[in-house]
Amino acid sequence: MFQLYVLILNLKCRVRKALTIPSDLVNRYPWLPSLKLYYSDIANKLPSEFITDIFNKAESKQISDHVFTIFESAFNNMEYLPRMKVDNVSVYVYILLNILVYTLNIKIITNRIANLYSKNAYTKMERDNSFSNLYDICQDLELRVKFYDPPVKYGNKILKDNRERQLTNFTIYYIDYLKLASNLRDEYRKLAHNSLHNGYVYIQNRNLMRLIQEYVRNKILIEETEDKASLKSFREEVFKSQEFKTLYEKIMSIWTKRKEDFDFTFKIDITNKTDILKLYPPCVKEILKKAGEGQNLVHHERLFIVWFLLALEYPVEKVVDVFSTLPDFNREKTNYQVEYAKKKKYVPYQCSTLQSINLCMKEKYKDELCQDGYGSKELTERKKLKHPLAYIRIKQYRDEKQEEYLKNKAKRELEDSKKQNE
Ligand code: SF4
Repeated sequence: MFQLYVLILNLKCRVRKALTIPSDLVNRYPWLPSLKLYYSDIANKLPSEFITDIFNKAESKQISDHVFTIFESAFNNMEYLPRMKVDNVSVYVYILLNILVYTLNIKIITNRIANLYSKNAYTKMERDNSFSNLYDICQDLELRVKFYDPPVKYGNKILKDNRERQLTNFTIYYIDYLKLASNLRDEYRKLAHNSLHNGYVYIQNRNLMRLIQEYVRNKILIEETEDKASLKSFREEVFKSQEFKTLYEKIMSIWTKRKEDFDFTFKIDITNKTDILKLYPPCVKEILKKAGEGQNLVHHERLFIVWFLLALEYPVEKVVDVFSTLPDFNREKTNYQVEYAKKKKYVPYQCSTLQSINLCMKEKYKDELCQDGYGSKELTERKKLKHPLAYIRIKQYRDEKQEEYLKNKAKRELEDSKKQNE
């Protein structure tokens, strides 16, 4: 059980010799490693004792209301958290949130909370607009950054015919950059596309904040535990607090109502006749599943799903909605990109391309049409599936034939029974 505390707070991590950042900053950004220095007493408590302490505080209602709002916003697919002044209790909110995520142990919830909470961390840093805060945050995260005032010039940005010198206040050591950017697959984040000097990468302030957002997201993400016995005993322990149990049940009750919408987020009936989701090939289902769970999508996954859905004439806003659960979602930017793709009429990747970039999922889903092809009953004479759009057409054709066959069969049976009764 103690392990959970290591998980949540990293209290057993490297111990620092001196406090390096102001406590105000930890209260504003409770995911900072210095939390363990300011709140070291938490490590020695049992979860139930710690939770009881929270609910005995004068601000307990403010804490639990705020935690509930975070869950509610995530379940309602909100892109941002409502603005609330909670710096005085943010440490308790953060810890309680992590305990609840662990207790719930539902991957899709964990992902959504991690995305929303980390986005909120980004927004806070952006609003603070403080170089010294950003620098202190990097120091606390032990990121090797250099700060320049006035900003240094590097590279050129070419917009149409204008060449603009780029400026930044920060550089970051390339190893630290790679560590944080490893899950962010956008092309422009690749080291090869960034200016480097003496091992330090020139980085715009907002990109540095985006890397920190990714750090926060990863801190909340925990794998669903398989160890049901230890989870059960953990729940028994934390449910000793009636207030915690009530909050947990309140969250579960809205999740139970909203869960179904999550399962069918992408069930958009464009034909008004067919359940289109049933017709999607495995490569598409997999991307929609990942997006639905709030996981990051790689560049090719993003392009493919946009081109695929546009080819099926999905409305732009529905395509944009697919991305709304992703950690780096920006509606305006995504809308522009989808509109642009629509204008350009890009054709979705064919199967051979998807196979070469590891996005073909026929083995994982053991899909008969993808694996064995179509046409004759003889496997040797069958045609190979070449394009995911062809998958939909063939499935649709088969469904129609099946429907027709069942109708005729029912008709025949009815006629036979009539004849017998005559
Ligand atoms: S065979 Fe084609 S349609 Fe099927 S999963 Fe692979 S890429 Fe997708």
